[in-house]
Amino acid sequence: MEQILDLETDRENQTAGPSGRMHLGGNDLTVDAGRVVLDGTVVGYLYENGFLRSAREQTEDDEDPDTGQWRLVDDLEGCDFQGTTQDGLPLSLPGPSSPGPTGSLSYNGRDYQVMQGRISNAQHKILGEYYGGGRFVLRDARTNTERRSLDEGSVINFSFAGTASDGRDLSEQYTRPLYRDQISYHENEIIRYFQDFDRLDQQQRDYVIESMRIWAASGILQIVRKKEGNAALGNVKHGAAGVTRVRTGMVDLDAEEFERDIDLCARFGPLAVITTRVPSYVEVRVNLVVSHEFGHQLQFCLSQAAQDRIDELYQARLARSIAKFPPPSAYDGGSELVHADQVMHREFISGYAKASVFEYWAESVAAFSFKESRKLLRQLDPGIFSILEQVVFTPEKVMSAVLCEQILNLQASLRFGGEFGKNLLD
Ligand SMILES: [Zn+2]
Repeated sequence: MEQILDLETDRENQTAGPSGRMHLGGNDLTVDAGRVVLDGTVVGYLYENGFLRSAREQTEDDEDPDTGQWRLVDDLEGCDFQGTTQDGLPLSLPGPSSPGPTGSLSYNGRDYQVMQGRISNAQHKILGEYYGGGRFVLRDARTNTERRSLDEGSVINFSFAGTASDGRDLSEQYTRPLYRDQISYHENEIIRYFQDFDRLDQQQRDYVIESMRIWAASGILQIVRKKEGNAALGNVKHGAAGVTRVRTGMVDLDAEEFERDIDLCARFGPLAVITTRVPSYVEVRVNLVVSHEFGHQLQFCLSQAAQDRIDELYQARLARSIAKFPPPSAYDGGSELVHADQVMHREFISGYAKASVFEYWAESVAAFSFKESRKLLRQLDPGIFSILEQVVFTPEKVMSAVLCEQILNLQASLRFGGEFGKNLLD
């Protein structure tokens, strides 16, 4: 009974136990969620990272594999395991990479343990393998992929201290080219993207970081930046690239508009209702020029099917907008204008989103970038909201096929580094 209680405690602590078959001491054993069973009796406990405890050797201080009666499967003659982890990926122990280095890994500031090349967290859940020299292979349960090899585009800052498999000291430190040491991946990536960042004042910096945070932390910004280019303050009026669909690559932001949006955003938030030249008509404005322009770049990275879907959503809204809110005769612009009491019933997240499918997308990307306007976009336009959610969480469904492998490798790295998780949009 004491043993069973102890094993239940292990489960409450969310320690990770695999399921499968194990060979040990000439016996063929069943492993069920970590419990090692022989002839119907629990004889031990196995963790995903290869720690094994015999139930018979149990002592009072054996909770902790570092001090208790635990062995590594690597150290037991003729011991191996074949099965699956709790998240359903195949697992072989000791594993194909063994023996690898052993020591402490800090990846983007997150601490992990490496045992004979197997990387695990504090709950002994296996997350991948480390071979030394910056060579990581990560397990990606989200896409059901057992091995994702990281390359220079996906490895982020890390340090390792321990011993190589031959016993010599191994100490490694890696900082990405052009990255700064003391700040997070997403801030580094935003600084790389926004060329004039160091010349901005604090309010402007906060605005740029908040505008781009979800795109940077999910890895989408890095992929788009590498394909399309950076952003810089210039004097090109916004919208030029989108309206004409001319490929400019890099984004030039109008400095005046940048300053005005920051001011409006600080005073009214990401969305503002403004008066127009036409008496009694108002227009909703998204005050997010940086993420708007990024949205134009992002559109070039979407699959054709996703672009077609966006076009359908736009055409349906355009038809309804023209029927419900016909443009006043005194107005020759392309924005959706409404009376003040109709603002909550408008078709487009902003007036300007009506101008073309490209502006519709860019304004939606912009609104999605800030928490406050993202909530409203979800209510007002669930169709476009769902595509934007897919860009972040299931990019393989909506991004151009040639980019998907890079994105998924990078996202696996960012999850591992604690930059990117399910709660990014909360
Ligand atoms: Zn635009």
